[in-house]
Amino acid sequence: MAEKRDYYEVLGIQKGASDEEIKKAYRQMAKKYHPDLHPDDPEAAEKFKEVNEANDVLSDPQKRQRYDQFGHAGVDPSYGAGAGGYGGGFGGFGGFSSGDGIDLGDIFDSFFGGGMGSRSSSSNPNGPKRGSDISTSYTLNFMQACKGYSASIDVSRSEVCDTCNGSGAKPGTTAKTCTECNGTGTIRFNQRTLFGTMASTRPCTKCSGKGKIITDPCQTCRGTGRVQKRQTINVNIPAGIDDGQILRVAGQGNMGQNGGQRGDLNVRISVKKDPLFERKGFDVWTEIPITYSQAVLGDEITVPTIDGNVTYTVPPGTQPDTVFRLRGKGIQKLQREGRGDQLVKVTLEVPKNLNKKQKDALVAFSEQLTEKNYEKQTGFVNRLKKFTEDLKKGFGM
Ligand SMILES: [Zn+2]
Ligand SMILES: [Zn+2]
Repeated sequence: MAEKRDYYEVLGIQKGASDEEIKKAYRQMAKKYHPDLHPDDPEAAEKFKEVNEANDVLSDPQKRQRYDQFGHAGVDPSYGAGAGGYGGGFGGFGGFSSGDGIDLGDIFDSFFGGGMGSRSSSSNPNGPKRGSDISTSYTLNFMQACKGYSASIDVSRSEVCDTCNGSGAKPGTTAKTCTECNGTGTIRFNQRTLFGTMASTRPCTKCSGKGKIITDPCQTCRGTGRVQKRQTINVNIPAGIDDGQILRVAGQGNMGQNGGQRGDLNVRISVKKDPLFERKGFDVWTEIPITYSQAVLGDEITVPTIDGNVTYTVPPGTQPDTVFRLRGKGIQKLQREGRGDQLVKVTLEVPKNLNKKQKDALVAFSEQLTEKNYEKQTGFVNRLKKFTEDLKKGFGM
């Protein structure tokens, strides 16, 4: 096992760093080494793992204190003991889980979407092995994403084989103890080195380190003790989730081995486009076309919101593309309290295909208008007049 780097060094911070500094450093480093940005780069993956591990310890006051006092040995019982690995099961979301008073262990956004926990399993082949993670995707409509949704998600995952109850041996038979290793799964041997003969061990090849040999394998699972099954998992998707985010559902992945816990289920969320609403951050945008006379005279218009329809009074003289803000009518913030706003943009629809009568009426109406009715145009006309005069004078050139 390679010497572990100092956690502060990993995050590039001083030993006395504040919680805020740790959080910031973690986000920066996690972003830098995120697997999405470095596909198939084992070095970056290793760094990312290291960063997550460092953050998991340093963002937890108790673990941090132990680490400050005892170093790696204070936070990892296996460290230095030769057992290998760091059996913690780090979440990818450590940076947000502490201090905010909200448990977000199950949620992490696309940025932390790798699910890269440090989960190397024990080197003991008979020890508990955590099951692997599974991934699936789920599509929500706009409202479901805004309001949260209790989804039934079908997945295929490994489960205990019912035929053999997970033993892998054909019912009525049992696995035999491996004679090569006497059931220990490891072979002791002497190795000659520069320093003399040393006793060493290697996994037993005859039983693949399992200590047992199945002579008559279960036909259902071909001796593995596991089968793929379709399962329906109920997942509470939190309000405010956005397109492309990944929801981690802990303990719903593939089954573990030798009593190890299940892996996680990672659900990539897609949100369908909505004809009325467009999401920007936690704000909702709506575009509402109004008529010329509504803009001129003002009117009450119906505005669809994610809570239902509301009435909004457009004031007289409303200009095209004016944006009204309905505070707190937006989307629930995923990692915080509160909601975004709804922004309503009113566009002006210019009438087309007028008949003679309509045209005459409009001309008659226009003739009634004066400079006072057109603030912008009057201003422009005056500026244009000045420009034309200057043009004649050649701008003093
Ligand atoms: Zn079986
Ligand atoms: Zn063996």
